[in-house]
Amino acid sequence: MISFDNTENAFKGKSNGALRQSFWLFKLIGNPVLVRMGGSLGPLGLKMGFKRIIKSTIFKQFVGGETIQECNETINQLAKYNIGTILDYSVEGKESEADFDACLNETLETITKAKKDPNIPFCVFKVTGLARFEILQKVSANQTLNESEKAEWERVKKRVAKICLYAFESDQPIFIDAEESWIQQAIDDLANDNMASCNKLRPIVYNTFQLYRHDRYDYLKQSLQRAKTSAYHLGAKLVRGAYMEKERERAAKMGYASTIQPEKKSSDRDYDRALELCIDNIAVTGLCAGTHNEASSLHLVNLMAKQTIKPGDKRVYFSQLLGMSDHISYNLSLNGYNVAKYVPYGPVEEVLPYLIRRAQENTSVKGQTGRELSLIIKEKARRSAR
Ligand SMILES: Cc1cc2nc3c(=O)[nH]c(=O)nc-3n(C[C@H](O)[C@H](O)[C@H](O)COP(=O)(O)OP(=O)(O)OC[C@H]3O[C@@H](n4cnc5c(N)ncnc54)[C@H](O)[C@@H]3O)c2cc1C
Repeated sequence: MISFDNTENAFKGKSNGALRQSFWLFKLIGNPVLVRMGGSLGPLGLKMGFKRIIKSTIFKQFVGGETIQECNETINQLAKYNIGTILDYSVEGKESEADFDACLNETLETITKAKKDPNIPFCVFKVTGLARFEILQKVSANQTLNESEKAEWERVKKRVAKICLYAFESDQPIFIDAEESWIQQAIDDLANDNMASCNKLRPIVYNTFQLYRHDRYDYLKQSLQRAKTSAYHLGAKLVRGAYMEKERERAAKMGYASTIQPEKKSSDRDYDRALELCIDNIAVTGLCAGTHNEASSLHLVNLMAKQTIKPGDKRVYFSQLLGMSDHISYNLSLNGYNVAKYVPYGPVEEVLPYLIRRAQENTSVKGQTGRELSLIIKEKARRSAR
């Protein structure tokens, strides 16, 4: 029976010095006032030359490096514990065609790197790195595009197809991240087209299903049915979802019923049901559970045991973000399960919004010690008692 309480396993990769550094970092970002200040002062800090400080603290905890090359140390460190890397080029909010082409080329580079490195089981991209938000929104809402927009949308489709085809030719699976519900239809259409063309032999292209949406369990069922009917494998990355507040705010502001589940319990229930559906159909499915939730991770472990799926079966992966939930990642990998960490990378100034989100996620609620900090404190105590 796997236990996620084993902090010795969880922090095997961290020296005492590195553990101390993480302790102070999580202590600092546990302070909501500091994090609020950091959110607005971060960009200013960079302008004032604090890049080195940011790079050696919060960046080091959550990010692999500024370039693919710089991520090598993290890739090798994780590989020592049989944990794979998913290189995630985390540049956000770009709007020009030149930026989209640069992101396309960078994503192709990650596939080239993965082809040569057995420690990189998946690559990943966000469609908003390759397309204007507004065009995705228009396509999702089925609005009529003018001639120039039609040409723009064709370029987006070509970029996505180029990545997926290169992944297919390289035999290198790739995830398409899920984003806001009002652009998700366009993303799903792109994912479905490319799954149909690239997943005939095995899952190469994976779509992402956000189970915090009340319609996604049914959508997963439909996607599975479509894959069966058209004789391809479904690639399914399951997550709860990252845009809950934004989704609810927009729905309230615009007066439509929110796509988000009524309560956390319903997201948890659908997440676990989605795991069951994928495992029951594992013959035609590639599954990645992108979660920091211990109960769901254990649920998947139990489902695999019930279906006599071996821990190391490549059709099933667990995934967490770099710098978070190592107690899940390391305990799973030490028990033979397939685990890969999302390793974001990119120039410090570009990755700043990602870092601010990680800090906010780890800010204490009503003075409580956060999950990550509690685990670090437990491991520090265990090491001092030796
Ligand atoms: C490897 C990986 C890949 C990811 N890829 C994506 C992606 O492509 N797209 C994306 O959107 N996110 C993605 N995420 C982020 C993911 O959605 C968040 O990590 C996740 O929401 C946190 O949930 P959890 O499963 O870790 O569990 P928990 O920490 O148990 O759950 C927290 C989540 O539950 C949901 N929730 C919380 N309160 C409520 C409520 N009151 N009502 C309904 N639901 C609630 C929210 O989704 C919240 O984030 C990814 C995460 C990982 C680890």
